[in-house]
Amino acid sequence: MKVYKFGGASVKDAEGVRNLKRVLETTGEKDLLIVVSAMGKMTNHLELVVNAYLNKTGELPLLLVEFRNYHQTIMEGLFPNSSHPVFSKVKNLCDTLENFLETNRSTKHSFVYDQVVCFGELVSTTIISQFLNDNGFSNNWLDVRTCIITDASFRDASVNWEETQKRIASAVNKKGITVTQGFLGSDSENNFTTTLGREGSDYTGAIFTYCLNADSLTIWKDVPGVLNADPRYFNNPKLLHNISYKEAIELAFYGASVIHPKTLQPMQRKEIPLFVKSFMNPDQAGTCVGKGVTLNPETSCFILKRNQVLISLSSLDFSFMMEDNISDVFRWLHKFKMKVELIQNSAISFSVCVDNKFDRLEELLVKLRERFRVEWHEGVTLYTVRHSSREEIDAFLKNKEVLLRQEGGDTVQVIVKD
Ligand code: ADP
Ligand code: ASP
Ligand code: MG
Repeated sequence: MKVYKFGGASVKDAEGVRNLKRVLETTGEKDLLIVVSAMGKMTNHLELVVNAYLNKTGELPLLLVEFRNYHQTIMEGLFPNSSHPVFSKVKNLCDTLENFLETNRSTKHSFVYDQVVCFGELVSTTIISQFLNDNGFSNNWLDVRTCIITDASFRDASVNWEETQKRIASAVNKKGITVTQGFLGSDSENNFTTTLGREGSDYTGAIFTYCLNADSLTIWKDVPGVLNADPRYFNNPKLLHNISYKEAIELAFYGASVIHPKTLQPMQRKEIPLFVKSFMNPDQAGTCVGKGVTLNPETSCFILKRNQVLISLSSLDFSFMMEDNISDVFRWLHKFKMKVELIQNSAISFSVCVDNKFDRLEELLVKLRERFRVEWHEGVTLYTVRHSSREEIDAFLKNKEVLLRQEGGDTVQVIVKD
């Protein structure tokens, strides 16, 4: 059997859902577990719902109507009969969401967030599973929350592999087609919904692939595969036909957002191939991430992470930055959920580039200022360049204001002020 994952861009409208069916026709696979994300930008939309709800901004009713209408339009494009049961199934899900918002008493942002954003995936898979059932692809709809068991770190949950493995083995039939949600899990103590981090559906695909010992995982994207440079910022990127797990982990970790970084480890552990392919051209080979070849074609790779924060610390009395100081810094970075991208230290200073994913920079800075002289730059870009020549890098950096540069092996990283 194989695992497929379809992201929001692939199912953003009725035509996208019909195209998903065409992908299944083209590949001809019969035994599949299909992981699907929320449609289009619905997770972003549900984030607005959470904020409107918790901050009582008054926009909540309109946002909820927009959520219903978006899916209503897609369903009308897929199910000509307006009394089709799918309409009431989706209505029930939307009612459940609104009921949660009315009865909930928790003000904990991350908890509320997960209980709300999950409806994007629950609705999308309900529609897609029904459409496939009606059109020759009989399948089972699986509530992924009964399988993927996590801790209670809402918005950034960690998987309990042992329990998840057991649940998946008993819930998933390896024959035929199963349709399930990406991104979601549930916590082992209270069965509340959890999420695996934004863009986490690729990772869901890898969890199922690993636990089912599937033959491969294919993530269907709006690009031909993994490219040697981010197509949003570089012209004429080249398609990478084959890359090793290690290369893919490096690229994904430093910003090749075409693959969620957590996806690669489970694939590598069992040496199962990961394909990244275009949902518009499903018969093209795309990229294969696997054992063997490091990088084919051999070419330089340019990736970037925007909107990072560079923090530079030195001791207040110009004493050395030693283990005790630095260990406190790491404790706080962990506490405020900063994702560390790069570190550099010298005798009297310590610089760290972080992703302020959970909007907790102010709290961190308050803590740091108690102990250190602190300088920081927000909105900087971290570029990672691999397998490149000095001339190429110098040409690339011309006219850029470089705040920090670090080289090691075949990788050059620079932090640039935008
Ligand atoms: P999904 O629909 O699964 O959520 P994403 O939008 O998260 O897909 O990922 C696909 C996008 O990743 C592409 O549209 C592209 O803009 C971006 N991207 C960034 N870096 C790369 C890269 N190196 N190769 C291909 N795509 C990349
Ligand atoms: N729907 C979720 C998000 O947009 C998960 C995913 O798409 O991978 O973050
Ligand atoms: Mg995505």
